[in-house]
Amino acid sequence: MKPLALTVLGATGSIGENTLDVVARHPERYKVVALAAHRQADKLFEQCRRFAPAYAVLADAADAAALEARLRAAGVATTVLSGPDALVEVATLAEVDGVVAAIVGAAGLPSALAAARAGKRVMLANKEALVVAGRLFMQAARDGGATLLPIDSEHSAIFQSLPAGFAGDLDAAGVDKLVLTASGGPFRTWSAAKLAEASPDDACRHPNWVMGRKISVDSASLMNKGLEVIEAHWLFGAPPSRIEVLVHPQSVIHSMVQYRDGSIVAQLGSPDMRTPIAYALSWPERIAAGVAPLDFTTLSSLTFEAPDLTRFPCLRLAFAALEQGGDAPAVLNAANEVAVAAFLDGRIGFTDIPRLVDGALSGLDLAASVDLDSLLDKDAAARRWVGRRIAS
Ligand code: NAD
Ligand code: MG
Repeated sequence: MKPLALTVLGATGSIGENTLDVVARHPERYKVVALAAHRQADKLFEQCRRFAPAYAVLADAADAAALEARLRAAGVATTVLSGPDALVEVATLAEVDGVVAAIVGAAGLPSALAAARAGKRVMLANKEALVVAGRLFMQAARDGGATLLPIDSEHSAIFQSLPAGFAGDLDAAGVDKLVLTASGGPFRTWSAAKLAEASPDDACRHPNWVMGRKISVDSASLMNKGLEVIEAHWLFGAPPSRIEVLVHPQSVIHSMVQYRDGSIVAQLGSPDMRTPIAYALSWPERIAAGVAPLDFTTLSSLTFEAPDLTRFPCLRLAFAALEQGGDAPAVLNAANEVAVAAFLDGRIGFTDIPRLVDGALSGLDLAASVDLDSLLDKDAAARRWVGRRIAS
């Protein structure tokens, strides 16, 4: 069998590292052609030494030149490119079969979209790409003949719980509802007053998952679940009324599909991203992922509760943005990215995040953009809007 030739975008992140961990377990199945990161040159250097890709990418040209020189000195022939265009270039190389899209935020949209348009096997962790440009993205995947496979654990669970060959028609598949589970994050039991005082470190202390800082804050605010509702809408053709969010603090059930005959099919497992990553890499087959199976005898209990939309308004805002349509999800995402970065920098409080996102949604024109450029202009306008509110 010819190995699957891979580009990993966001290789140095939490998803990127987990991807390389799974890939390294199966050297006969996967060949790494390109690794892309933003600024973490040291980590990328180690990854290039280990996987010897033909290409690597960093944001900055001087950093790229320095990395290439270091690699040459270490006897590694990797060509190091730089800048956003290089991300698109390595995502669309003719010799690449599959692209793991694991850049964080809307910054990952152009490269993921290009991979879809080029008909690659797109293994999508970068949920923001679908939130910002779901319609364009799904159209690009169809036009390009891409295979789109979710890495986000909830969407992988739903994908695994839907009938094989599901083609986007819930009614034809006998599905009533998609049930997205949420851990509830580190602030699940915090009072509204305490939330206003929450620090970045508090927010990044997730009970079940170790993740990048942006998604950790999103998990704490439940914006992550809101982004996932929008992601599920596009991936599975589900209207918001057929997507339910259920808080399940143990993160054992990763999500469920409720069928019209009363059956509910769920996917369970240890909270380890290598399982959904391995499934995206190997689908329709299954490969070892280094994940220990669940030991049911040590699980004390599985509990469930409804999400609290008063303490966690981000989830309500995301549902509303999906209902509203047009550019509302793109504005929601951009405003959230700027607000989360400011929160992580200590410039605003945790409860300012939903306040700013709500403000941007009321303050900006939400009419649908027709193409990627106008959508990115809207994204930029939302970033400026929130940036001004934070500065003043
Ligand atoms: P991370 O912060 O750990 O890693 C982000 C990666 O993207 C890094 O390699 C970084 O160098 C790169 N990057 C950041 N900005 C970039 C830019 N402007 N241009 C190019 N590269 C850039 O994040 P993560 O936790 O791995 O999350 C990545 C994506 O996967 C996010 O969209 C997140 O929502 C999604 N996701 C993550 C998890 C998880 O468990 N970590 C689970 C589900 C979905
Ligand atoms: Mg998830």
